[in-house]
Amino acid sequence: MKKYLALFMATVMSACLLAGCGAKEEAAAPAAPEAATVDETASEDQTADTAEAATGSEALADGVLTVGTNAEFPPFEFVGDDGNPDGFDMALIKAVGEKMGVEVQIENMEFSSLVSSIGNKIDVAIAGMTVTDERKEVVDFSDSYYDAVQYVIVPADSAIAKAEDLNGKTIGVQLGTTGDFIAQDIEGSTVSSYNKAVDAVNDLLNGRVDLVIVDKNPAQVFAGMYPDDVVALDGAQFGFEVENYAIAMPKGDAELADAINKAVKELKEDGTFDKLVAEYIEGN
Ligand code: GLN
Repeated sequence: MKKYLALFMATVMSACLLAGCGAKEEAAAPAAPEAATVDETASEDQTADTAEAATGSEALADGVLTVGTNAEFPPFEFVGDDGNPDGFDMALIKAVGEKMGVEVQIENMEFSSLVSSIGNKIDVAIAGMTVTDERKEVVDFSDSYYDAVQYVIVPADSAIAKAEDLNGKTIGVQLGTTGDFIAQDIEGSTVSSYNKAVDAVNDLLNGRVDLVIVDKNPAQVFAGMYPDDVVALDGAQFGFEVENYAIAMPKGDAELADAINKAVKELKEDGTFDKLVAEYIEGN
């Protein structure tokens, strides 16, 4: 936990210097679709779906698995001391890559751009990403590797305690996340979306939002940064449902999906997965 606190305090302080505390970030423009960069040798007259059937996994063809993430979601992903993405998901995908015999290259990008970047800028995404029906229209998901639930961060003296208390409130969320979608559905809500959930927490401290909805583990990390000022409440008390994290992959690439699922399964069986949970999630 100490490591994350130091890192995030540094992030918050630099954000305050650059943009003024609590300055709201503009919504990110969706990533522009790009020509496939990973496998330039893929036959052009085949559609993406049939290409895999004929030539094997397009994503795996060059021996490099390009992985998108958003390193603003501790303990699953955060910017490490060396400036590179670190965290549970990063360690997991590197171990998966090792099992698969491919090199893993991480691309840090906005969360809301990840799904649309799969198959062009990146091969897959790992970002504490919840499996949803909407996302499944665009990408396939691996077997789920972790369960989560949305949490509610409120000022320490807040009376907010049950679902009805959320009605009519101004809610801070990270743009394009399941917390964002839940907030939009709350009666009379005004939703303020940020590219980084930690900025929503800053605006909670500034009184610009009444509460923040974000996944359990990051909520606990963020709330732990300001233990005198805020508390993180279990979303179950507001009726929020369990969510499943999985790796997002290009649609229809069965070879890639099989390889990833097999690798994760092996990592669970050989104890590596539990070791990473202890190191990154439970041990902080
Ligand atoms: N689990 C949430 C989602 O998938 C948030 C993920 C994140 O912010 N990295 O929308």
